[in-house]
Amino acid sequence: MNTHDNIIIQNYSNGKYTNPKSNNWIDNYEPASGKIYSKIPNSNAQDIEEAVAFAKAAFTTWSTTTIDERSHILLKIAEGIENRLQELVEAESRDNGKPVKLAKAVDIPRAASNFRFFGHAITQFASESHESVGLQAMNFTLRKPIGVVGCISPWNLPLYLFTWKIAPAIAAGNCVIAKPSEVTPMTAFLLGEICTEAGLPPGVLNIMHGLGTSTGQAILDHPDIKAISFTGGTKTGEHIARTCAPKFKKLSLELGGKNPNIIFADCDYDRMLKTTLHSSFANQGQICLCGSRIFVERPLYDRFKKDFVARVKELVVAHPASAKANLGALVSKSHLEKVQSYIALAPDEGGTILCGGNQVIIPEYEEGYYLEPTVIEVQSNRCKLNQEEIFGPVVTIMPFDTEEEVLEYANDVTYGLSSTLWTKDIDRTMRMSNALQAGIVWVNTWMMRDLRTPFGGVKASGVGREGGFEALRFFTEPKNVCIKYN
Ligand code: NAD
Repeated sequence: MNTHDNIIIQNYSNGKYTNPKSNNWIDNYEPASGKIYSKIPNSNAQDIEEAVAFAKAAFTTWSTTTIDERSHILLKIAEGIENRLQELVEAESRDNGKPVKLAKAVDIPRAASNFRFFGHAITQFASESHESVGLQAMNFTLRKPIGVVGCISPWNLPLYLFTWKIAPAIAAGNCVIAKPSEVTPMTAFLLGEICTEAGLPPGVLNIMHGLGTSTGQAILDHPDIKAISFTGGTKTGEHIARTCAPKFKKLSLELGGKNPNIIFADCDYDRMLKTTLHSSFANQGQICLCGSRIFVERPLYDRFKKDFVARVKELVVAHPASAKANLGALVSKSHLEKVQSYIALAPDEGGTILCGGNQVIIPEYEEGYYLEPTVIEVQSNRCKLNQEEIFGPVVTIMPFDTEEEVLEYANDVTYGLSSTLWTKDIDRTMRMSNALQAGIVWVNTWMMRDLRTPFGGVKASGVGREGGFEALRFFTEPKNVCIKYN
């Protein structure tokens, strides 16, 4: 676990690892111990300027490579990730605080799947043609890569979400300036080497590290970066939209969530209970899709409350490397404090803490950012605990009586990312699925992903969709050609 002690993380620009021009560095903390263990560049506009020049130069060739060539390289990158699975798993866990077993089961395999999926998807991506029957004209649509695009990602699923953007962007023939979160830069750093080994030409992918306000802002401001694919908080998304709209950049925004988990009394109880533990506390509750507002139909409410709380109390908070850990550490001290500030609001917001609520002190790792999984019973969906994104191991529970009532609760938030529904009633499933204001509805499951499906949110949860051909459409510009013939 100490292979990366005191490591200097560098930018990956034009296929080489480089230092930031300003020699400005940021400390990188290990959440499990609260200690600094590496330094990362805080890249500025000059670094981005240079990376964009490299990307533009690479674009001339990369945009004209055959689909087979691009596909081949993406599949090699997927293999490269798999070949270094254990190293990446340990790096991700150490950088983020998530349990090693979670990084091994989900994060790193999914990063490989992203490259493999888009390596295949690009070979199936077709553009449309429209014959103007009777007018003797034929329309066909060219789909061209955009050019140089920016990909900016968050800390919660670091390599998973970073590659979810990069893979379709380069598969479609673009060159990329990518910025991982400054809080979790390590696996993005390692990805550079994997791309070089896989034969990705220099300049096609440039991984630039640093703060949102310096590196991220320089990406938004650069006139030659024509599209931005962003995943992160809604406030940052607003800023990005404000900055990019007057520059007419193409935008994909995947933002925050406050997702309802709606449990009807006719559900498959055991399956629901098991999955609800997971959808509440996986990755310490730091997944944009976590079901943080649990609504339970009244006849089931007391049983659920008792069983759920008992099961939550059994969850083990431990050092992420421990095989026993159900929850590891939260990502940073400031994030831990933010989550704690919401727990502290409970009494004033009419909430009763049913379990958890306290920081966990782990011997030898006393400075680590550990928190008990917390269940709060609330009286109203209008309280802050139900309206604002906490993004930690905190869920609320509340009973409901009718379908109409719970639908109103579910939709009465600014967000609209995902919803989970537990019921065996097919008519209700259809009614609710149609009426829920969300980009994704899971019925009797949670976070089951098929990479071909559209992924994204409505309202304050974002604009646009990722996944499958949606992503390839985002990263290409359609141009219609109309031919009149005699
Ligand atoms: P964040 O918005 O603070 O940061 C995300 C990224 O944006 C980071 O790389 C950051 O450096 C960068 N950034 C910050 N300010 C910037 C600026 N001015 N210009 C350009 N870039 C800037 O989000 P976070 O705290 O890293 O992640 C947590 C948030 O992400 C939560 O709200 C969560 O719901 C959301 N999220 C959404 C999805 C989704 O698919 N909808 C997935 C994961 C996480």
